[in-house]
Amino acid sequence: MSKYGHALARSNFKDVRNDLFIRGEWRPSTSGMRVDVYDPSTEDVITSVANATVEDGTAAIDAAAGAAKIWAGTAPRRRADILMRAHQIMTERSEWLAELISRENGKALPDARGEVTYAAEFFRWYAEEGVRLNGEISTSPSGNNRIIVQYQPVGIALLITPWNFPAAMATRKIGPALAAGCTCILKPATETPLTAYAIAEILTEAGVPAGVVNVITTNKSGPVISAMLHDPRVRKLSFTGSTEVGRILLREAADQIISCSMELGGNAPFLVFDDADIDAAIDGAMIAKMRNGGEACTAANRFYVQRGVLEAFSAKLAERMKAIKVGVGYDPSTRLGPLINASSRNKVASLVDNAVARGARIVTGGTASGGKGFFYDATVLVDVPAGADILNEEIFGPVAPIVAFDNEEDGVALANQTEYGLVAYIYTKDLARGLRVSEQIESGMIALNRGLVSDAAAPFGGVKQSGLGREGGHHGLLEFTEAKYIATAW
Ligand code: NAD
Repeated sequence: MSKYGHALARSNFKDVRNDLFIRGEWRPSTSGMRVDVYDPSTEDVITSVANATVEDGTAAIDAAAGAAKIWAGTAPRRRADILMRAHQIMTERSEWLAELISRENGKALPDARGEVTYAAEFFRWYAEEGVRLNGEISTSPSGNNRIIVQYQPVGIALLITPWNFPAAMATRKIGPALAAGCTCILKPATETPLTAYAIAEILTEAGVPAGVVNVITTNKSGPVISAMLHDPRVRKLSFTGSTEVGRILLREAADQIISCSMELGGNAPFLVFDDADIDAAIDGAMIAKMRNGGEACTAANRFYVQRGVLEAFSAKLAERMKAIKVGVGYDPSTRLGPLINASSRNKVASLVDNAVARGARIVTGGTASGGKGFFYDATVLVDVPAGADILNEEIFGPVAPIVAFDNEEDGVALANQTEYGLVAYIYTKDLARGLRVSEQIESGMIALNRGLVSDAAAPFGGVKQSGLGREGGHHGLLEFTEAKYIATAW
């Protein structure tokens, strides 16, 4: 049986590629150094990956530069066929990939399976979108000439991804980059490198030529990425990660005026109005809060519930959270796996402790399980006071803090009390109110009577300190292009 045919977690994943992927070849780091990869469910080392140096980063740019002209000149249909094949292979390999993601990230298998489907969809969507990169033609208002606009590949793209969606954050960037005709270098998170290398294998099998996609892993992200951003051949940075690191990279990218797309942190409000369908709101809350164990930029971070339904909502949410089975991510019965590492778990625990010290009450959860693995129970907090850190910081864990509000104006004001603006959730049966509130909330995305916004076909992204630019949809393709304007007359 091929390695992709293994049943659940029987594979030890020692055979997954773990060297740098440059110019279509697997090679060790020039330093010979390696970085361990951990299983957050057990704290065991799974394997190690090559630890790229500044020289390796340059070699990856050399490879991307060498392939750039040919790839930009490849027919859009040919590029689309390759992406479509990558979608197919990823789908065929979905169970194996889900186990791999669960093993290195810790997420429960149903979440990992959902991620693989979502991730593969970016290849399919951009296969379809890549043959529809239409330009524009118009007559200048003066009547003197025509304005022709053509979308050209922006150039070599540096793609940096976080650990929380190791497959989807990579394909959300590689799909549009390749469809637009760009070559790229992917630098995945140090915590979850194996999924990125597995995707490189899939792309190679799908027919992506050598040098078009390169993957390097390093625990020296600062110097390696800084050197790459100072190489004039790199023209695009597409980053997904924390606002803190995003800010550093925007400064780095400023020196060469590199085009930047930044998908950063969030602090999503979840508003429940008195007139909401409470059962639907609970179902939505469970998805918005607990998808990926709360380790999502889109995770509902603050629950604002109108006073008339506060008790009913809090009791029902606590009941559902209490019933969640916590355990090893790749155990089929698990619904909540561990957090990514000890510092993430400690951060979640300290946010809960801080809220409780300020007067919040724990309805369920509130404990970090002892023993091996970075577990934290699904937790609901009520009476969370305004100054609690948990309302201002990204929790990135399975904790739902609930706060009461009195009227629509207060609800909107509370929702906007953050420097972030990625997504907001609104539950109300009154569509006019839903749309009115949607317009007033400062965020790039709104889920109205829904617990999920992520969709390969939609423009995903934030306002304020949640980022710049959009990924997914047609907008995501344009991020990897430059509009070339030709003035002419005939
Ligand atoms: P992070 O910012 O710590 O790391 C993201 C990536 O940047 C990783 O690959 C990391 O190795 C790299 N990195 C870290 N320091 C760097 C440096 N100095 N120079 C260059 N690269 C560096 O984020 P994380 O902990 O991996 O992910 C969680 C964060 O990502 C959360 O804030 C979450 O909200 C955000 N996120 C946002 C979206 C979105 O679409 N808006 C999606 C997923 C995650």
